[in-house]
Amino acid sequence: MKISEIHIYQHDLPVQNGPYTMANAAVWALDTTLVKVVTDTGLIGWGETCPVGPTYAESFAAGARAALCAMAPKLLGAALHPLSLRRRMDGLLNGHRYAKAALDIAAYDLLGKATGLRVADLLGGAVTERVPSYYASGVGAPEEIARIAQEKLAEGYPRMQIKVGGRDVAIDIAVIRKVWETVGHKMRLAVDGNRGWNTRDLLRVSRECRDIPFIIEQPCNTLEEIAAVRPQLQHAVYLDENSIDLSTVLRAVGQGLCDGFGMKVTRLGGLHALATVRDICEARSLPHTCDDAWGGDIIAAACTHIGATVRPDLLEGVWLAQPYIAGHYDPINGIKIDGGHIKLPAGSGLGVLPDEAQFGAPLAAFG
Ligand SMILES: [Mg+2]
Repeated sequence: MKISEIHIYQHDLPVQNGPYTMANAAVWALDTTLVKVVTDTGLIGWGETCPVGPTYAESFAAGARAALCAMAPKLLGAALHPLSLRRRMDGLLNGHRYAKAALDIAAYDLLGKATGLRVADLLGGAVTERVPSYYASGVGAPEEIARIAQEKLAEGYPRMQIKVGGRDVAIDIAVIRKVWETVGHKMRLAVDGNRGWNTRDLLRVSRECRDIPFIIEQPCNTLEEIAAVRPQLQHAVYLDENSIDLSTVLRAVGQGLCDGFGMKVTRLGGLHALATVRDICEARSLPHTCDDAWGGDIIAAACTHIGATVRPDLLEGVWLAQPYIAGHYDPINGIKIDGGHIKLPAGSGLGVLPDEAQFGAPLAAFG
């Protein structure tokens, strides 16, 4: 089974009840990129990549499309095996893993469709049909975030991520304390700085909240800052934005620089790379998430399939943008969070069949 056509689409995803806020950004709408891959056997597979704005990571929407357009003509005729496809893409373009991820996801979708297996089966086998999610609060005032936590607890979410940073750290501390007073041990808590704190802020939060059990995700801008103060912290630290590739993950795990990861499919280059990280983490009993920065049903399905394969005690959850997005690419099998959990799709491949009329004409087509 070989690639005979690649179609690249741009699609807008408005943020429902926006904006979605982080320490360094507030987003009202997202610009996503979809790829449709047609094989020489007539099968169709889909991939997607959607950076959450241009400042979250070293990736942006137009960059994804430029990279895909640069590679696509030379991928016609390529076999749809994720490892060989990754090597072929690396031979055409250095870096740009977030763009390559869209084709990696499409390759898994196609392999599944060709064999009648779900992507989770191809990735090693699902250990659950009901994958836990978590809710990310946005940056807000103590009462507001505590109210959201209460609401999400009632909906069935097992975990809540509190966004902090980009303001007086005393407000962040007040938010953490208010959420803890409100939900206590009934939810696992994560505090995500999205690179927004300096080491002074990080030390202060950990010291002043030493009685509250939460993990701290990506508090500072660089791995070096985090590593410098980690021995003084009272809380476990996860890396998110800094875990940019397998080499960095290996370094962080090997040198004991973190206690887990907020892990993103497209940042690493796709499902094949995330399965490797999953196995590295399992070897060292490190918990992690299986998320992406943003995206519609294709990304949501990809994250859910890999999340379903993670050893349950190590899965921190699969975050989806779905609660912030109106509608679905696939009106029937679209991926939804229900009761704080996600049902693993039943169909072969990703189990999601987009209504491509929503995307309009492709921006570019090859083959
Ligand atoms: Mg994060």
